[in-house]
Order: sequence, then structure tokens, then C-alpha cells
Amino acid sequence: ARKRDGKNGARVYDPAILTRTREKAEIESDIEVGIAANWFEAHFQPIVGMATGIPVGFEALMRLRHPRKGLLPPGPLVSVAEENGSIAAIGNLILEDAIANLNRVSRLPGLGDTYVAVNFSPLQFERCLPARLTRMLGEGGILPARLVIEITEAVLMHDDPEIRRTLSELHDLGCRIALDDFGTGYSSLSYLNRFPVDIVKIDQSFVQSLLGGDSDLERKSRMLIEGITTISHQMQCKVVAEGVETAQQRQQLMQIGVDYAQGYHFSRPREINDLLADFSGHPSKASLAS
Ligand code: C2E
Ligand code: MG
Ligand code: MG
Ligand code: MG
Repeated sequence: ARKRDGKNGARVYDPAILTRTREKAEIESDIEVGIAANWFEAHFQPIVGMATGIPVGFEALMRLRHPRKGLLPPGPLVSVAEENGSIAAIGNLILEDAIANLNRVSRLPGLGDTYVAVNFSPLQFERCLPARLTRMLGEGGILPARLVIEITEAVLMHDDPEIRRTLSELHDLGCRIALDDFGTGYSSLSYLNRFPVDIVKIDQSFVQSLLGGDSDLERKSRMLIEGITTISHQMQCKVVAEGVETAQQRQQLMQIGVDYAQGYHFSRPREINDLLADFSGHPSKASLAS
């Protein structure tokens, strides 16, 4: 831990820094062991037609199944893994899991054409990514169009020509590109004409302020969702609303014309066996909360 000068020039430890350092070291060790021991897995959350409730795809979300601590969420793992570079290895594991399980999901009635959406960190955009993806998809027997690559503005921010070229190659392969958490960052709109974007995911903060009232914040959020949807459609992009938790939010988003929804109202992220159980059996089961 870093030392600070205390009163009388005595060297003291800042307990907050000490705790953070310990936590970080613990996360780093969980990641290292987790990669070696195969503790990482993808959970899957349906993305459904706004009107039909029928899944068009599933987002793969990273979890670490720790034998003692249980299931760990991605937030702290991703930030530490991006800092020490291990996100590239973890991202690959999630990608493999996602592709393997898409094949299992595809065999269920009504879900043959669904896609899997995988979150990519900026560090994963190496030169060899298109070749590696081509190989992985080929081995899994998956058409590239059934892989959606979710990126945030962190990938696009520096307007790196290398990243731009890699994205174009992925798009040319037939993979689709989704802009995640749209509307929260800087100059988001300009990304739509500088990069090959197919899907815009409206950040859940906008959706969560749709409460069915007429507060100023709510009116403004609704106008932003309308604006983003109109512009995205004019740019030939499909629109997903994230974080849909209530029937009322769904109703409003449907009126606005948002194409797809993802959120607890339809389903939480599920581990693969639960997901397969949810959708096995009768095709009508494919529709969620409709
Ligand atoms: P994201 O890509 O925006 O994923 C959506 C997050 O919203 C997920 O959190 C999901 O569980 C949560 N969510 C879905 N529906 C609802 C809802 O109705 N209400 C609320 N309150 N939350 C909802 P999760 O799984 O904790 O993931 C958090 C973030 O971690 C992701 O945000 C993504 O940025 C990152 N992440 C997850 N998996 C990966 C991965 O494999 N690689 C990388 N690089 N990042 C990942
Ligand atoms: Mg995402
Ligand atoms: Mg998001
Ligand atoms: Mg997010």
C-alpha cells in the first residue's frame, strides 16, 4: 500500500487505499486462478421482439463461478482485467462458450435463427481478430451473421485507424456490430456514420426513467429515446432498449417504435441449462411476457 505523510511527518497507511489494494489483489488472483481452473462462464439474457416477446438473440454476460464465493458479476472483473490485460484471454473464453451454446439454443423450437451478442473490450481488437473469429465460427458451424459484436464508445473513442479497419473486416465477414450503452458517452451520434454499426442499444438509464408519469426528466428521456430511435432507423440500424423492467416501459417503448427489448421484465440473465429448460418443449414457450 502507498504511504502518506501523517501528522508530525509520521508515515501512515490510508486504510481506504489499503482495502482497495487488497480487493484488487484478490480480484487479480481470482482472475488468474479462474482462467486456469475454467471458472469463467457466459450467462445468457434474451433480447426479444418488443411486440412479440419472442427472442431474436441472447446476450452473453460474463460470470466467474467461484467455488467459495459463488457467482461473481463482471463489473469489477472487467475493469481489473482491462487494466492487467487478461481481458483478452477471458474474452476468448466467453466467446468460445457463447458460440458453443448458441448451437445448443439453435436446436430449440423457434430459436434456430437467433444470434448471440458478445461484449468486446478495446483490448480484444487485435489484427488477428477477424481471422480468429472466422476460424471459431467455422469450427462451430455458425454463420457470421449470427454473431453480434457489442462495443462501447471506449472502443471507438480514439478513432484508431487499426480498430476502424478491424471493425470493417468483421462487418465484411457478416458479423453485426452493436453500439452498447448508447447515449451515455461523448459524441455518440457521430459514431453512426464513422463506423459500420448495425444495432444501437439504448442505455438502460433512459429506459429506467420511463415511470409512466410526466416529470421533466421523464419527458426528456422519452424525447431522447424517440430521437435516438428515429436517427438509428434512418441510418438503417435496429434499436434495442436495455433494462426494460416493467410492462409499462415496454408499452411506451413499443409506441415509440423501438424494435427490441432486453431486461428483467422478460428474463434475467440465465445460466445455459436453465435457459435451455425455459425454452424446451412447445414452440409457444419461445414468447416471453407477452
Ligand atoms: P452491458 O453489456 O450493458 O450488459 C447489460 C447489463 O445490464 C448486464 O449486467 C445485465 O445483467 C444488466 N441488466 C439486464 N437487464 C436489466 C434490467 O432489467 N435491469 C437492470 N438493472 N439491469 C439489467 P452485468 O451482467 O452485470 O454486466 C455488466 C457489464 O459488464 C456489461 O454491461 C458489460 O459492459 C460488461 N460485461 C459483461 N460481460 C462481459 C464480457 O464478456 N466482456 C466484456 N468486455 N465486458 C462484459
Ligand atoms: Mg452489452
Ligand atoms: Mg449496455
Ligand atoms: Mg452497461
